[in-house]
Amino acid sequence: MVCLRGTDVTAPFAPVPAVGYNEPTLQWEDFRLMPPNIMNAIGVALQVILALAGAFLFALWISLVIWAFRDIRARTRDVFAQILATLLVLLFTPFLGAGLILYLLLRPKETLAEAYERALEEEALLRDIEQRPVCPNCQRPIQPDWQVCPYCGERLKSPCPHCGKLLALDWAFCPYCGHELFPQPGRAEETLAVGAATLGDRA
Ligand SMILES: [Zn+2]
Ligand SMILES: [Zn+2]
Repeated sequence: MVCLRGTDVTAPFAPVPAVGYNEPTLQWEDFRLMPPNIMNAIGVALQVILALAGAFLFALWISLVIWAFRDIRARTRDVFAQILATLLVLLFTPFLGAGLILYLLLRPKETLAEAYERALEEEALLRDIEQRPVCPNCQRPIQPDWQVCPYCGERLKSPCPHCGKLLALDWAFCPYCGHELFPQPGRAEETLAVGAATLGDRA
């Protein structure tokens, strides 16, 4: 019969019958007295656990290196920086994760996709500002449906004599009704007369 505490082979140990006797905890002596096959089994189990833990840590390390390589490639096109970041994680992560922590502190804040998106947004904003209509005379902002600049009186648009829609001054045709605004380039007088009638400010 296998006894865990090995009390069956402890001839030198005298039983301690005493008042308030407590069950003693396991001591090294107890392990030494175990049968060798149990010691072997425990040793093998420990080895397996250590091997599994080692394999897990190794896999974790390699995974972190791969992750860092992918992450830095998403953040910079600089090959030197990519190699440096990957080496940093590869060489220093085994020291309590120092390489990974350093990489997370030093890596570029934005990914390339994020930077591209931000550039697009800025460009759109800039274009929006540039395309905001201004008075050609005083450069103040105007609305697209104004006929006259309210600040300086500059004529901005004129209504089509045929359909009444507001047209730019240099258009030759009304895009809404197809009316020819300046017919026959040879007849300047008529054109002028039409222009005067159209604008209404020369009549
Ligand atoms: Zn103006
Ligand atoms: Zn028209």
